[in-house]
Amino acid sequence: MKEVLPVPVPTIVQNETKRVRELFEQNVVPSYTRFDLALERGEGNYVWDVDGKGYLDLAGGIAVCSLGHAHPEITKALTEQSRKLIHISNLYYNEAQGRLAERIVDRIAPGRVFFCNSGAEANEGLFKLARKFGHDSGRYEIITTTGSFHGRTLAGIAATGQEKVKKGFDPAVAGFKHVPFNDVEATRRAITKSTIALLVEPVQGESGITIATAEYLIGLRQLCDEHNLLLMFDEVQAGHFRTGKFQSWQRILQLGAIDPNRPGGSVNRPYLPDAVSMAKSLGGGFPIGAFWVGERHAKVLGPGTHASTFGGTPLACAVALRIFDVIERENLAENARTIGDFLLIELRKLQQRFPEVLKVVRGIGLMVGIDFQPEFNAVDLVKELHKRNLLSVPAGNSVIRLLPALNLSRAEAEGGLRIIEKLIVDLAPKA
Ligand code: PLP
Repeated sequence: MKEVLPVPVPTIVQNETKRVRELFEQNVVPSYTRFDLALERGEGNYVWDVDGKGYLDLAGGIAVCSLGHAHPEITKALTEQSRKLIHISNLYYNEAQGRLAERIVDRIAPGRVFFCNSGAEANEGLFKLARKFGHDSGRYEIITTTGSFHGRTLAGIAATGQEKVKKGFDPAVAGFKHVPFNDVEATRRAITKSTIALLVEPVQGESGITIATAEYLIGLRQLCDEHNLLLMFDEVQAGHFRTGKFQSWQRILQLGAIDPNRPGGSVNRPYLPDAVSMAKSLGGGFPIGAFWVGERHAKVLGPGTHASTFGGTPLACAVALRIFDVIERENLAENARTIGDFLLIELRKLQQRFPEVLKVVRGIGLMVGIDFQPEFNAVDLVKELHKRNLLSVPAGNSVIRLLPALNLSRAEAEGGLRIIEKLIVDLAPKA
């Protein structure tokens, strides 16, 4: 019998940026301001656009692609697991979800993990945890910080300490209050009899890489202990080994030479938050979010109080487990520290050479913020770097962020630095 060949799937788009852009202009909700780049494929820390131009990717899908692009072990985990089970719902147990939860608990402390699909959803879980915890005592208010970012759901934008994300979405979800970052006294003054929790990013990412001090984190723990509040950390961007430790608060305490196993609060126990949200690098590009809650509050969200159809599917968890394996086997936390330190040192040298272009360089591990002088616009700088074959992420008015994969090599970092240096030289006023 004549073999019937499968009819080739028609190519949806032609290989040109303009055609892809037109598809978006006609069919996709225009809620994003996109760069004029249509990316087609990637390998390691490089991506190529539909016209065949290659880029070194120091954006990492905004701190998501923890192992870079087309990593063979992610492909293997995806294909192996998808042959067995992709999804079963949370009506049943699946081993991968249990093992991934165990992995997270082992890295933080005894407690439990809830799985969802994004950072905003992970934070939503924290808001519900706090509300439920405070419900019987009539407490509901969550204090967050100015400059923070906690996601785009209605509660997420209410929690976020940036006006621009709230505009046009009134009335805001009630029960959020913002105080200055790195300011324990302002936080203390904001606590009322309605307060139930503090939510803080130990490294603020979206506003341009602003790092909490160890003293601040310790002060927050003490405040929470004094007032019986939940201390909740949003580690969606800074977590998952990006700063050189599993979560960024652990790295900040290490840099501040504060042993997290010594009592850090006003009560006699090691330094720990009560709950932590995570997403981004956890799935390396496969959507997964999670929150961890410590043992003391592990049963606040009991049966029937919270759920997600897609949360913790066998497929998502198999991928996340494999990412854990690779990060641990290849010691990528140390790589994040070493390459991050290298980038920071070299960029600070550039800042000293060109203070009229660069204001300051901030960073911790592979979260680097290059803060240009205010006359330089972040979006324009990122576009200029595109022309020079480099992807980075704008933040605030004049900051560009580097949030690359955790396996970025020294040679790749040097390549990125050369491109950035050339841009700065070109921007510097000529004598
Ligand atoms: N929290 C932080 C600190 C983030 O950086 C982000 C996203 O950038 C979010 C929450 C929201 O995550 P998602 O976009 O996955 O909902």
